[in-house]
Amino acid sequence: MRLDIITIFPEYLAPLRLSLVGKAADRGVLDIRVHDLRAWTRDRHHTVDDTPYGGGPGMVMKPEPWGEALDEVLGATPAPVPGERPTHPGAEGGGTGSRGPSGPVVVVPTPSGRPFTQEIAAELADRSHLVFTPARYEGIDRRVVEEYAERAEVRELSIGDYVLAGGEAPVLVMVEAVVRLLPGVLGNAESHRDDSFAAGSMAHLLEGPVYTKPPVWRGREVPEILLGGHHGNIARWRRDRALRRTAEHRPDLLRAAPPESWDAGDRRC
Ligand code: SAM
Repeated sequence: MRLDIITIFPEYLAPLRLSLVGKAADRGVLDIRVHDLRAWTRDRHHTVDDTPYGGGPGMVMKPEPWGEALDEVLGATPAPVPGERPTHPGAEGGGTGSRGPSGPVVVVPTPSGRPFTQEIAAELADRSHLVFTPARYEGIDRRVVEEYAERAEVRELSIGDYVLAGGEAPVLVMVEAVVRLLPGVLGNAESHRDDSFAAGSMAHLLEGPVYTKPPVWRGREVPEILLGGHHGNIARWRRDRALRRTAEHRPDLLRAAPPESWDAGDRRC
């Protein structure tokens, strides 16, 4: 998978060289390219922002550097200006026609986007090229999203109902969620099967509590059922705890679960 990240703070993405994501890059599972947006500015101050039309506080990121950066990273020619004839055959509609399930996905982090979920992480993990556009200030001039939505898949995604100062931290969050789903990245391919939100048995549940050695710590014992080695009983116990935890922390998930996702044991829980 290729990941391009365009930012005015390339150093902010340094943690991508660490841990699971860094190791995946070292092994060639990932090709991570972090770009400085200011490389695509043309004035001597490397200006990337300007005052908002219509007034108001804050600054807005200018469309020109983003446009040039995305054209280069996507390897696309700019869409024709409305009313102008395309300059080469097949250019009608813009770009290289890379829109579609095999083309790149442009991920625009924004608090006004759709919520980023495990399901979306899994969808992005199926793609071979993701381009992230973390912004600063009040965000990017809207015309940039409109422009690239015509020639690539653009996904505006929020990592939660709060506002951060910039999109770099959301990119770190999304990249890690996506990369750990790539084949061969986790040591044990089964590791994410029972995660909270994972498709399948845990689709509408949070994971329950987990324990390791020693069996007694400060007088607190590991639940006996986990020491017994009876796989069926352990699976039932884990699911019951997951149901309880979900009811306590995220009752909305239980309410949204389709009736067929419950088994007879769940109803007794
Ligand atoms: N004025 C914007 C609004 O209210 O929607 C907030 C802009 S925020 C200060 C600057 C940038 O941080 C955003 O453009 C986005 O890239 C990033 N950002 C902040 N909070 C985010 C969130 N919850 N999810 C994803 N990106 C976020």
